[in-house]
Formats: sequence, C-alpha cells, structure tokens
Amino acid sequence: MVGAAAPEDVHPQKAFGWAARDTSGVLSPFNFSRRATGDLDVTFKVLYVGICHSDLHFIKNEWGSSDFIDASYPAVPGHEVVGVVTEVGKKVQKLKVGEKVGVGCIVGSCRSCDNCGKNLENYCTKMLLTYGSTYYDGTPTYGGYSDIMVVDEHFAVRIPDNMALDVTAPLLCAGITVYSPLRHFELDKPGLHIGVVGLGGLGHMAVKFAKAFGAKVTVISTSPNKKDQALNLLRADSFLISSDPQQIQEGAGTMDGIIDTVSAKHPLIQLIGLLKTEGRLVMVGAPVKPLELPVLPLLLGRKMVAGSGIGGVKETQEMIDFAAKHDIKADIELIPMDYVNTAMERVQKADVRYRFVIDIGNTLKPT
Ligand SMILES: [Zn+2]
Ligand SMILES: [Zn+2]
Repeated sequence: MVGAAAPEDVHPQKAFGWAARDTSGVLSPFNFSRRATGDLDVTFKVLYVGICHSDLHFIKNEWGSSDFIDASYPAVPGHEVVGVVTEVGKKVQKLKVGEKVGVGCIVGSCRSCDNCGKNLENYCTKMLLTYGSTYYDGTPTYGGYSDIMVVDEHFAVRIPDNMALDVTAPLLCAGITVYSPLRHFELDKPGLHIGVVGLGGLGHMAVKFAKAFGAKVTVISTSPNKKDQALNLLRADSFLISSDPQQIQEGAGTMDGIIDTVSAKHPLIQLIGLLKTEGRLVMVGAPVKPLELPVLPLLLGRKMVAGSGIGGVKETQEMIDFAAKHDIKADIELIPMDYVNTAMERVQKADVRYRFVIDIGNTLKPT
C-alpha cells in the first residue's frame, strides 16, 4: 500500500479501543497502535475511564480545529484515565510496574516556558492534549477509551494504593478543574462560604473539595429538584435557586467565592450579587457563546470574575493525594464499553449522577 500506514501498523504496541469516525460522534471498535515504551515513558493497562462532557464535544467536532485541538478522525476520546503500570522506560523514576497510575487532559508541554517553569503545564501554549493533538513523533494522540496507554512519566500521576480506581478516574479532569481554582483563589480556607453553580460532574466535585477544605457550601441551581441531592446526597449546607429573586436577595453579599461550572449561556448578575466585597466568581465551565458581564456590580465591591482551566501535573498529584487523605470520591455510574453511545446521549441531556465511568478492564473486548 502506498501512503500512510494503517493506524494498527504505525507503532509497535498493538492497541484496541473505541473511536468516532465522523461528526455523528458514534463510537465503535477501533484497532490502532501505541508507541514503544521510551526511556521516560510509562505503559499501562487502562482499567477505567471517565466520560467528560469534552469527550462529547470532541467526537462530534463541535469545537472544530484550533491551536489546541485537532479534530480529525478516527477520534478516540478519554482524559480521565486510570490503570496499572505494565512497563516503564529505563530512566523512569516516578512509577514502577504494578503501581496505580492516572492520566488527565495533558500528555505534553514545552517544559521550558514560564508557565511550564511554574508547574502550570496547563497554560503552556504548546501543551499537547491526551486526545486531539499531534504528538512529537507526528502521530495523533488517542485518549483512554482503549486497552493500553503510553505516557511520558512527567504527565502521569501516582494513585495511592488505597484509592479505588473507578471513583478516582473523574478526579483527573473534573476534580482538578475545581480543586485548582479553590486553591489558587484562596477559597480553600476553613470557615469560608463557597457557592457552587451547577450540579454535574464538575459541580459535585466542587462541593466535595470545598467541604473538605472546611467551607460552608451553598449549591446554586436553576432547578428546585436538585435540592434533595445537594443537601442529602452531597451534604451541601444550603441550596439556593438562582432564578428566585427573594432567595438571591437573602443571599446577597454572603459568599467569599463561587465556582461556576455551567457551560450553557446564563446570567452572571445574580452571582456577582451573592459575593461579599472582594469575592471571586471563578468560571470553569466553557460556554460557547459570550456571557454578559455587568461591570457596575463589580466596581461596587471590588469583586473579581476569573477563569481557570484544569491544573498542572504537580497540582494534579497534590489533588489526588488530598483526595486520598480526605476519602474524596466521584459519584459514578459504572458502565460497560458497549453502553458508551447511550451514555453519550445521556451526557448530552445531563442525565447522569454525576459521572459515567467505563469499566474498560472488564468490558472492552477486542474484535
Ligand atoms: Zn474533561
Ligand atoms: Zn511550556
């Protein structure tokens, strides 16, 4: 055959996973290959992978191609990946064969810019994503909906032996995405009042981390039917309906910070009103359309609206170790591989409490 090699012949390690072939986003079995374990690489058997809403955007090519993401097919999603190390390169120091390992959204960065120097690989302009990037060897990166992965040890996270892997997988994206801003914006001090907007994969993790930091946590939602789960399942301290003017009035000026996880268009003015003087509203969802930012309420209280995206590798390790210490787990619905397309339809409708995790180890069967 003339031209590019077939995906299963590009690299020496045989791999098998599920990929989307076009913008329908329908996933189906896919034979491909992974690079040989380099001196600084870790190869691992994938056991579980979380389904992030980003996976759905990616397989349907809803973001298009950009500086960061290359929307080409076949597309293997998955960036909440956990498993057990099966081989390490001869210079690897961080991990040993048999240890638990996790990979989040990033598998490469320049390692020399200011951001990389500050362990902020997540803000490196040359970062390589776990899926949808072109790796240094010129081949596409494929995510964790697959039986094995190979990763540079720098981008691998050690998972303590006592952590269950299925409920830990979502920490690699959803967990760090909310942990990082709580830390960076100093919303991690005991006794603070933290609001969490939206109760999905990110929001439920934000409640858990904020509670573990010792905060009083209020879940802010548009749907009254989330109240019971917020208070009784997730043990939030209170619940507030953002579309109810009376509740907004009563909560005005009471919050030190708000983590806003909503990725649909939504008004900010009520949220800014809930903040104390110098309170911080941190956006971690990614609405496609611009939001309206009312400025006067910001001036009257020296308030801040900020954004935050995932976290660096060092901080991701810190988050995992914190979660191990405080027994923080994602609430998941564990599913077999062949349920994935139904799961994606349910993710689209936000019909999951709160994260699907695919049981790769037991249900991904080669064809
Ligand atoms: Zn994600
Ligand atoms: Zn860099």
